[in-house]
Amino acid sequence: MLVDTHAHLDDKRFDNDREEVIKRCVEEGVVCIINAGSSLSSSIKAVSLAAEHSIIYATVGIHPHDAKTADGYTTELLRSLAGKDKVVAIGEIGLDYHYDFSPRDKQQQVFREQIGLARELKLPIVVHDREAHGDILKILKEERAVEVGGVMHCFSGSKETAKECMDMDFFISFAGPVTFDNAKRAKEVASYVPVDRLLTETDCPYLTPVPLRGRRNYPGNVKFVVEEICRIKNLERERLLETVVDNTIKLFGIDITR
Ligand SMILES: [Zn+2]
Ligand SMILES: [Zn+2]
Repeated sequence: MLVDTHAHLDDKRFDNDREEVIKRCVEEGVVCIINAGSSLSSSIKAVSLAAEHSIIYATVGIHPHDAKTADGYTTELLRSLAGKDKVVAIGEIGLDYHYDFSPRDKQQQVFREQIGLARELKLPIVVHDREAHGDILKILKEERAVEVGGVMHCFSGSKETAKECMDMDFFISFAGPVTFDNAKRAKEVASYVPVDRLLTETDCPYLTPVPLRGRRNYPGNVKFVVEEICRIKNLERERLLETVVDNTIKLFGIDITR
């Protein structure tokens, strides 16, 4: 009963074997994959993947890397995409000050607009935060993200930031980096976050967990993230898996068959 709440199966690195990968995930016990959109074209692909596969759900949104491509029509197009079947959130949206692929003021503007859209549509948000914790918290507060809640995906902040996010009704999601030997902070935060606020993801094809680092990632590898969180929190595997299913149902309002 594995859940991958953040995958990019629309990525071109799956173009040669996407259907086989999805089939393998089902065989390996993955019961739900949420495919995150990152641009308009990737959001459209996410929506069609969700239409074609019962275990896949979609989010639609513009990643901060692509914020520079957003114009006056972007919100309208996202609004119409968000009305499609199995779209469960607006995302991934946020700020990335590590790469700065879009100017920071543009990243902030597009992030704010998409939180506004999520509030209008009453959908939760999927937040990408890389080296931008202060501005992320400020914007989440100013734009009243607490009204819709959401998830801090592949969380890389401190315990204090995690607490502020949880106070705004956000879930904290962990990906491959929590398995890395040098990820002291991620392990500390995983130990701190209560299990009923925690989600698991791969962010595939990126961030492959230990022991498969260097290979292409895929949703089945979420099992390594699960194992590491169980080890850190001294939890039974079944207890974590059950709770993550419950959290996913609660946040995204979807029906996962057990
Ligand atoms: Zn991300
Ligand atoms: Zn992502």
